[in-house]
Amino acid sequence: MTASVNDLITLTPKDSCNTKLAAGPWDFDTVPGYGPGSSQADRLPDPVSRPGQLPERYQLMPEPELHERILAAKATLGEELVILGHFYQRDEVIQHADFVGDSFQLANAALSKPEAKTIVFCGVHFMAETADILSAPEQAVILPNLAAGCSMADMADESSVETAWEEICETYGVDPENTLPDAEGKLPILPVTYMNSSAALKAFCGRHGGIVCTSSNASTVLEWAFERAHRVLFFPDQHLGRNTAKAMGVPLEQMPLWNPRKALGGNTAEQLREAKVLLWHGFCSVHRRFTVDQISQARAADPGVKIIVHPECPMPVVDAADAAGSTDAIQKFIAASAPGDRIGVGTEINMVNRLAAQFPDRTIFCLDPVICPCSTMYRIHPGYLAWVLEELVAGEVHNQISVEPEVAVHAKVALDRMLAAKPKA
Ligand code: SF4
Repeated sequence: MTASVNDLITLTPKDSCNTKLAAGPWDFDTVPGYGPGSSQADRLPDPVSRPGQLPERYQLMPEPELHERILAAKATLGEELVILGHFYQRDEVIQHADFVGDSFQLANAALSKPEAKTIVFCGVHFMAETADILSAPEQAVILPNLAAGCSMADMADESSVETAWEEICETYGVDPENTLPDAEGKLPILPVTYMNSSAALKAFCGRHGGIVCTSSNASTVLEWAFERAHRVLFFPDQHLGRNTAKAMGVPLEQMPLWNPRKALGGNTAEQLREAKVLLWHGFCSVHRRFTVDQISQARAADPGVKIIVHPECPMPVVDAADAAGSTDAIQKFIAASAPGDRIGVGTEINMVNRLAAQFPDRTIFCLDPVICPCSTMYRIHPGYLAWVLEELVAGEVHNQISVEPEVAVHAKVALDRMLAAKPKA
């Protein structure tokens, strides 16, 4: 049995990217100004339930007791409860999940349980928002620790995107509130947001003729967008946008980077007019750690090794790998491999560890030699799960994520467009 990432960080702290991870998340949830995400001061979804509220008794409880309490609360709540666990979640939490998957698979899994009054989402903030948008109005979505955000999602906030949109539309000479199609029937530009973004940005896309994408369907979504517009503003992840558009044949010089801290995003008006895809200056701090050097070293040590990476990795890494794909595609790639195969994987360590345990007759390893989980996902410690479940048994709902109805309605438009977009035959 492969040791869990939690065990590895505790037992071998010098091999971990951040020794603070071995401490309880409550030790750093209370840092002033800390929002749902780790990188920027995002707004708290519920000012009453501040992070760091985890009662001390749950902080001090040994893991076996937390485990027993979670099981007991789950048994009491029965069909009224569904627990969702993201692929990148720690094993100590994932063992209690009714469904394990990526953010969109999990939002859909929640839809398959209409009898559940409560959805406990063991993932990060934007995932819980999406589940709230897609779930029935009478279902409550709970994020066990409100400090579990996504640093990438925080890199594109609503006001920066609104400002960028106004500047871009001004460059194209169109009204930002009403970008009408030209004689060809195409819009000058439309926004595409990765699922890893706030509900407010999904709503922005819904209002401006735009759409949401996941790492599984990004090329289908870009095809959909190019049928309707000359250009796309893609946020927050530059790497997913660049890797996807490049694979579709868009030249790199037509993919300028938009830096929200610079006028015209750091571009000339001419560059913006020539652009096909404007890439927001965002990235995933976990996937940015993968390098071409790591791939070269893996191949030097074992010329027969196969390499698969996530498309949130930088372009040179994706280009150097044998394959790139979403978490679902990585799973399928490994499931389709043969016993004895050696596979280096460029994605989050909890998922890689779990795949290694699932396929013990293959050698599956993370390309990054340092143990570095998604530090915000990692904030869902079993203590938070035990707390929110026991409070539910007592009739109290904590850490509910509720998207404002006027935001949810527009965000759903963009999500529904994604669901309706079909790959070209
Ligand atoms: S792995 Fe990256 S994109 Fe995914 S939740 Fe963590 S920080 Fe966000």
